[in-house]
Amino acid sequence: MTGLRDRETVQLAGRVNGRVLRPTDSDYEEACKIWNGMIQRHPAIIVQCRSADDVRQAINFARRHDLELSVRGAGHNIAGNALCEGGLTIDLSTMRHVRVAEAERRAYVGPGATLGDFDAAVQRHGLATPVGINSTTGIAGLTLGGGFGWLTRKYGMTIDNLVSADVITADGKNLHASEDENSDLFWALRGGGGNFGVVTQFEFQLHPVGPEVFAGLIVFPLEQGKQVMQRYREFVASAPEELSVWAVLRHAPPLPFLPENVHGKGVVVLPVFYCGNPAQGEELVSPLRDFGDAFGEHFGPQPYVQWQQAFDALLTPGARNYWKSHNFVELRDEALDTMIEYARRLPSPQCEIFLGLISGAANRVPPSATAYAHRDAKFVMNVHGRWEEPAQDEIGIAWARSFFQASAPYASAGAYVNFMTEDETDRVAAAYGTNYARLAEIKKRYDAENIFHLNQNIKP
Ligand SMILES: Cc1cc2nc3c(=O)[nH]c(=O)nc-3n(C[C@H](O)[C@H](O)[C@H](O)COP(=O)(O)OP(=O)(O)OC[C@H]3O[C@@H](n4cnc5c(N)ncnc54)[C@H](O)[C@@H]3O)c2cc1C
Repeated sequence: MTGLRDRETVQLAGRVNGRVLRPTDSDYEEACKIWNGMIQRHPAIIVQCRSADDVRQAINFARRHDLELSVRGAGHNIAGNALCEGGLTIDLSTMRHVRVAEAERRAYVGPGATLGDFDAAVQRHGLATPVGINSTTGIAGLTLGGGFGWLTRKYGMTIDNLVSADVITADGKNLHASEDENSDLFWALRGGGGNFGVVTQFEFQLHPVGPEVFAGLIVFPLEQGKQVMQRYREFVASAPEELSVWAVLRHAPPLPFLPENVHGKGVVVLPVFYCGNPAQGEELVSPLRDFGDAFGEHFGPQPYVQWQQAFDALLTPGARNYWKSHNFVELRDEALDTMIEYARRLPSPQCEIFLGLISGAANRVPPSATAYAHRDAKFVMNVHGRWEEPAQDEIGIAWARSFFQASAPYASAGAYVNFMTEDETDRVAAAYGTNYARLAEIKKRYDAENIFHLNQNIKP
């Protein structure tokens, strides 16, 4: 940084309510940590914003000084675009408010809120909306890329429940975007990621959920994987939309309901979630027991917020993570064979192949209604490569890439932007499919200079 910039940085600190961190500050290193431990980037300035006006000041400052700009929600994105190298990071993690208007069933949510913040606040009113499955994920990044979770079959993607957003655009304007106001921007925000500006508040539609739901897991040997996955495929095709069942192929974690000799063995885990009357859950899951000879199961009524944290222990921050993903409209036998083959040679005990079930309400929205285009996708597969040591990178990345290639012939077109790693910039146009041209045109209108380019970038 030049002397002028040092001076200017002090002036910036005087203009914002939040903190301005530089590499010499004691908590700077902590502020550079994000979920994916594989990403190490060091901005020259981190502005920990407290308000929309702080965001505006930070954008203007970055533009004036020609600094690369990155935007951080809760820092979970696998590509690590929350941080920039040598530029300015707008850190929203202190803007975590969640205000609920119970009568209107609406929530007004700050861009630094985690899913845990959100779920806890809305559940106090017996309400919820579809978000992801790990409570430390950020509502901002998740929503802007689409967002899906246990409630998606019933209530759609997260973006299908977005009512409006407040956005600071590249020119420092504060815009309200909804179906009635700046509707092109609102369309683009629903799946188009962080390309169009910085969202300073989200407004969501809520639904009555819980507070108790029926949920749990059943665990089968990987040796019976083909039969289990075929039955799974049949079962979910006609399951009610209140019910969601995902599939995870991995090594058995040391779950208390599994015998010790099963820990570490190859397994197919079927996590189950039912948001109807919990008393009916038992009957609904009973056919799953005939899928094979289960190693163990653990089902029952539990608080929705508890189930929303059920996988947190397997998804802690700081490990090295490399992901690949495909969408599937159908699960062909060949796709199942490939999944099982690669699950037999997982390169580390933390790696997994998981299939999230979308379908239902998410599939009833026309592809052109929002920027997120892949409304035919019934399953999203995430090839979750995860390990602790840099020395494992080569073998882990090679496994994920090889499986990705081998399963590609059975996948449908497109990809989920929220699961893309930093080396997948060539998949962005495919991820938006027929919506890409309209997105590029809107990008030109709101960010012709592409200052918001540290994302799954749509070129103006
Ligand atoms: C453990 C784990 C579990 C996950 N589970 C799910 C799941 O169940 N369902 C699902 O749909 N996804 C899931 N995801 C993917 C998740 O949706 C993305 O990683 C998402 O980008 C995380 O958002 P964030 O705010 O935490 O990330 P960040 O890394 O902070 O932000 C990601 C990007 O979003 C943009 N951005 C963030 N905030 C703003 C803002 N306010 N305004 C404008 N742009 C902004 C920026 O471009 C930024 O680079 C999961 C991810 C992880 C790591």
